[in-house]
Amino acid sequence: MGDFIEAHAAKSSSQIDQWLLGGGLVVTASERAARALVSAFHRARQAEGLSAWPVPNVQDWKSFARAAWEERAAEQGDSRLLLNPAQEEALWVEIAGQDRSLATLLDGPRHRLASLAMEAHGLICSHAPRFLAKTARSAWQQDAAAFSAWLTTFDETCRTTNLLSPSRLPLELISMLDSDPSQRPPLLLAGFDRILPLQRTLLDAWGSWQEADPSLPAAAVHFYSAPDAQSELAACALWASRRLASNPRSRLLIVTQEASTCRGEIERAFLPLSAPGGAPHFEFSLGIPLIQVAPAHAAQLLLHWLSAPLQENELDWLLSTGLAANPEETAALQATMRTLRQRGLERTQWTLDAFLGQHLSSAQLPAAWVQRILQARRLLQAAAPRHQTPTEWAELIPVLFDAAGFPRTRPLSSAEFQSLHRWQQALETCGSLGFEGRRVTWPEFLSQLDRALNETLFAPESRDAPIQIAGPAESAGLAADAIWFLGANEDAWPTSGPLHPLLPLDVQRDAGMPHAAPQLDWDLAQAITTRLLASAPEVHFSFARQTADAETRPSRLVVQFAGPPQPLPAELSAPSAAPPQTVPFEDFSRIPFPAGKAAGGSSVLTSQSQCPFKAFATSRLAARGWNPAESGLTPSQRGQLLHAVLHSVWSGPPDGIRTSDELENQSDRKAFVAHHVEAVLRDEMPRAAREQMPRRYLELEEQRLVRLVSEWLDYEAARLPFTVAATEVDRNLDLAGLTLNLRLDRIDSLNDGSMLVIDYKSGNVAPSSWDPPRPDDVQLPLYAGFALDDEELLGGLVFAKVRPGELSFAGRVGDAAATLFSGLPKTNALMKYPLTAEMLLDWRDCIHQLTEDFLNGKAEVDPREYPKTCERCDLQSLCRIQEHQVQFEDESEDGEAVDE
Ligand code: SF4
Repeated sequence: MGDFIEAHAAKSSSQIDQWLLGGGLVVTASERAARALVSAFHRARQAEGLSAWPVPNVQDWKSFARAAWEERAAEQGDSRLLLNPAQEEALWVEIAGQDRSLATLLDGPRHRLASLAMEAHGLICSHAPRFLAKTARSAWQQDAAAFSAWLTTFDETCRTTNLLSPSRLPLELISMLDSDPSQRPPLLLAGFDRILPLQRTLLDAWGSWQEADPSLPAAAVHFYSAPDAQSELAACALWASRRLASNPRSRLLIVTQEASTCRGEIERAFLPLSAPGGAPHFEFSLGIPLIQVAPAHAAQLLLHWLSAPLQENELDWLLSTGLAANPEETAALQATMRTLRQRGLERTQWTLDAFLGQHLSSAQLPAAWVQRILQARRLLQAAAPRHQTPTEWAELIPVLFDAAGFPRTRPLSSAEFQSLHRWQQALETCGSLGFEGRRVTWPEFLSQLDRALNETLFAPESRDAPIQIAGPAESAGLAADAIWFLGANEDAWPTSGPLHPLLPLDVQRDAGMPHAAPQLDWDLAQAITTRLLASAPEVHFSFARQTADAETRPSRLVVQFAGPPQPLPAELSAPSAAPPQTVPFEDFSRIPFPAGKAAGGSSVLTSQSQCPFKAFATSRLAARGWNPAESGLTPSQRGQLLHAVLHSVWSGPPDGIRTSDELENQSDRKAFVAHHVEAVLRDEMPRAAREQMPRRYLELEEQRLVRLVSEWLDYEAARLPFTVAATEVDRNLDLAGLTLNLRLDRIDSLNDGSMLVIDYKSGNVAPSSWDPPRPDDVQLPLYAGFALDDEELLGGLVFAKVRPGELSFAGRVGDAAATLFSGLPKTNALMKYPLTAEMLLDWRDCIHQLTEDFLNGKAEVDPREYPKTCERCDLQSLCRIQEHQVQFEDESEDGEAVDE
């Protein structure tokens, strides 16, 4: 087989190789194919043991046509500016904008229409140039007529301002060649799936040309059916790994139409083939939008932030990625964000001023960074009010970066360096939009740059990896030792697509434009399939019988070449499991907690009960969840405001009250509550919410609080006499050496002298959450059992559920009918489940045990009730519960069976 591969490769490349060795010019269908031929040429010379050789003359079609035109244009003194794609699109945008129709009023639709118009113009030039004459389009109707009018304006603009569209270049070149009798070197064409009529005319006008001979057709052709896309990809990856294992010098080509949509899945399937930490054995021939590449994205966010707010997640990312001069500055910036979150000062959007205006005693912004970023902003502000040419804006940006010290964090990797270089090119392209002397504002220039970065695809320079992953069309010109074509199902191959919306149907059909007729799609797919079969001695096709939404059938086209699909061979259909990247390790070691204070108060023991690891992570590692900012108040901020209002109401004289009698005597309870709500909102409303939310929202929030608290006081007014002994009570508790700082919402003295411990809740809670052996909440049992003074007698512990439409006490009370509400029915939960001495003893035992476990360092990942407990916890990424998921799911199913 090895000999055959060599023979096949030698046969397929020898003609091109000989042509290049003789100094001939090879023209390829694409830039990628040109690169592949140049690489193959160099490899062949190295294999011959040479140390130096002439550069091969390979040009892709566009470069070839452009160079030929430029040479003749210079000779003829043609001074027209050849537009770049961004410049041409800008012209179309301007023309579409003059239309004043609804579709072109907004920036986004206008750009989309302009890009469609540019595409339609390109199609006419390449497939039906006779329609470039205005008279030939006179019968076009509706959208096509509108496009025709735009095209007339475009032609006129180009003529009067001395511009030339790249789409017109081949037509211009043909007439230049026709009038130039000089001899031209013969051409060898490689990697063309089809030669368009226009290309054929140009080549004929050039002189002598020929297509490279097709290579030998593949000797081994297979077609597999896989049960689903996952097994199909896994089989392909397994096949590739075996090929590389048997011959590390193999060159494999994976052809897929999903290279951009399923890039992540493909990477995950092929990554295990590469050595850990080494360069991947594969590379995609198609890049990703430049805006998604980290350094380019950071550069863009920084430019936006100098004049406009960033979303909170964008700022998080920017601060941690590369806005600082050194790791210390980065750490300080991240610490600032962390502190803002811990203080509840998060915002959905951050302007530079809002970020710099935070005065946090515990987290200082690095002074040098502040100075640099402000200097960059000053430079921009000095220029921003003006309309400037795109060139001037493009020249200002490096100055801004220099002032801001971007990028400096660390030496850039080669790929990062290339991406910034590409970013610079995109910037220069946007700068070139001043070709007509137009002037734009800073936001207009930035949005043009955003668009350019979205449209620019970036792929790092090829490392000549052994596995190339490409789309069917992009694979033109690539040769390999073996090919695997994924996704060869009836719907996907041949591909189909919509007709062009701006060109008449009959024009598209007559000119054979892409997707104008099913036969055209079939012919193109057939040409590509034939070319692939001649690009390697061994070709595999595969398809998945089941996709996400439907059953699929094999591609009829592939069946013609490869016969009906066969099930995946056994050695590919059941890939042995990849060695796990993590190995389970039961860690039974325990590190005792040194006696002393634990952060978090009663939540330490609540967490210990919910999941020992949660207590360990939050109290000892200071791990915290990261809640995104919300545009209004978060549930937790609302809860804090409610607590603050109730604290204010029951704070006693001069403004508050303390007893049920005083509550009774409030003649206008609503006005009384409104007074407290107003004070709380004035003093305690988070600044970010006050600055960002409209006045009306804050008014509604105020009304909601007044209504809710008034209704709650109405509920409390029906109670038997009581006195509020304390609110927001702080107590220190020492439990076997563990010091906890407890804070309780309220303690009431009841009519029999006993104490009622109260916890306000705006969420849905139930006293069953205190039940041993693993209570979901230990705050009240802890307080009731350990924090009352010796002389204080416990009368009960309750949640005060302050929820709209659900106002009630829920808990355990010694005698609720005698101390809380007279006439409570026996069916009421407070009566049915009274507080008992046995209950108190159970809680004490349970709390002692939890304390002991925490002090001993018990920190197993052991959620109390999987998955419910984990759904209310933010530590999944730390405890990696997902990796234990199966075990806990089994346990939870067992538990349900027992309960039933
Ligand atoms: S997510 Fe679940 S298992 Fe992980 S720490 Fe939280 S409660 Fe424990």
